[in-house]
Amino acid sequence: TVRVRFAPSPTGFVHIGSLRTALYNYLFAKQNGGKYILRVEDTDQSRYVEGAIENMIEALKWAGIEHDEGVVLEDGKLVQKGEYGPYIQSERLDIYKEYIDKMIENGHAYYCFCSKERLDVVRDEQKTHGETAKYDGHCRAVSIEEAKKRIANGEDHVVRLKLPKNHDVVFEDMVRGKVVVNTDDLDDQVLMKTDGYPTYHFAVIVDDHLMGITHVIRGEEWVPSTPKHVYMYEVFGWEAPKFVHLPNILNRDRKKLSKRQGDVAAEDFKKKGYLPEGLVNYLALVGWSPEDNQEIFSMEELIEKFSLERVSKSGGVFDTDKLNWIDAHYMKEGENARITDLAIPHLIKAGYITEKEAKEKYEWLKDMVQLLKDRLSYAGEIIEKVDIFFKTEIAPEDENAQEILKLEHLPHLLDVFVQKVEEAEVIDEAFGKTTLKAIQKETGYKGKNLFMPIRVALTGEVHGPDLNLMMKVLGKQNILRRIEYVKT
Ligand code: GLU
Repeated sequence: TVRVRFAPSPTGFVHIGSLRTALYNYLFAKQNGGKYILRVEDTDQSRYVEGAIENMIEALKWAGIEHDEGVVLEDGKLVQKGEYGPYIQSERLDIYKEYIDKMIENGHAYYCFCSKERLDVVRDEQKTHGETAKYDGHCRAVSIEEAKKRIANGEDHVVRLKLPKNHDVVFEDMVRGKVVVNTDDLDDQVLMKTDGYPTYHFAVIVDDHLMGITHVIRGEEWVPSTPKHVYMYEVFGWEAPKFVHLPNILNRDRKKLSKRQGDVAAEDFKKKGYLPEGLVNYLALVGWSPEDNQEIFSMEELIEKFSLERVSKSGGVFDTDKLNWIDAHYMKEGENARITDLAIPHLIKAGYITEKEAKEKYEWLKDMVQLLKDRLSYAGEIIEKVDIFFKTEIAPEDENAQEILKLEHLPHLLDVFVQKVEEAEVIDEAFGKTTLKAIQKETGYKGKNLFMPIRVALTGEVHGPDLNLMMKVLGKQNILRRIEYVKT
């Protein structure tokens, strides 16, 4: 059975590139009735961030990409679920120790005592000769006995991979095809650090093997590392998993999307009020394309239609317009209350309402959101569109709207309308309908000549959402004030 994993380092946020990696792993597992595992790769202790794992799990859960096995959150606590644990690398140090000892015994790894200063000198020299920087193999000559003595004396050391000379390492990448790299072009990679923690390269092969991973699906930045990994599978006599390297997500300059250019974390999009279905749907299409031109996919459809064969080799540009277009689709479909809940923090932050009002006027807010949600790409965008509900003075910017306010019959029409509004006890959705009918009867104004001036007077715009609900949401006072403002 298929077993795949998403193996983030706990930096505290999920980059959307990582979110897509998680998504593809998830889709592939679900499609094949396999298992999708979350493993935490925290062997770089200098990068440890408090609460990072919890945040990442929350973000994945928000996105609907939930794992079957690995580190999970239960009642806010981290627990491990599954039979291949622990799933946090810092809790597996004794396992790595066992396997590194085997590597050393079998002559495939060696202790290295070189100081940072020495390594710097070597590197500088290689650079001046135009060579690529690489460990020069200095400590390969140190015998195990001597090494053990030096270690007993407390000397700092690392363990390095002992690569053979001129050996072709071959692997098949499901996206890129066959990759061949000669060991002469590879470095004697550090496998175990001075602090006794493994490096990523060592931990990843031990874990992928012990956890029974069948397919390694990850970002293309790991392609250069894969030959080293494959070589270690060879010396252990283990079957290597299949490799799938995903193209980078690029910015408009075709460079890798990075934090400096604004929103790159799943949480950033969540905060703005994007819907997880929208973000996930969009991300699925950056780097993968379906056979037809379908663009809107539910998670179920993605599980059905996704295929590794159609993952592209070249990077995909992150296109905010397309994301917005897709998210707008889900905003339209979204339940009123759900979009309202997402919009409220933005309305509070922008000062339109207080927290107390958010509760007291919840039904009213829901009506307002209903009027606007068809025109939103994400919930936070609502603050650009709510002025008409909070400000009396709306001067139409649009030329067509200005023309309408110059219509000869406008003052008369508005007078009749104002009278009806004043007489009304409540302005509900039925009010607009019956009132416009009555005015038509009384005055003979009809069609566009009737509702357009009223729409423009109330909203400042010629197009817009349902006028009847609009009147209800505006309410008596606002309607009267608005008309007053237009008349003067
Ligand atoms: N910990 C690595 C990362 O943060 C995982 C790479 C892999 O999937 O092998 O990207």
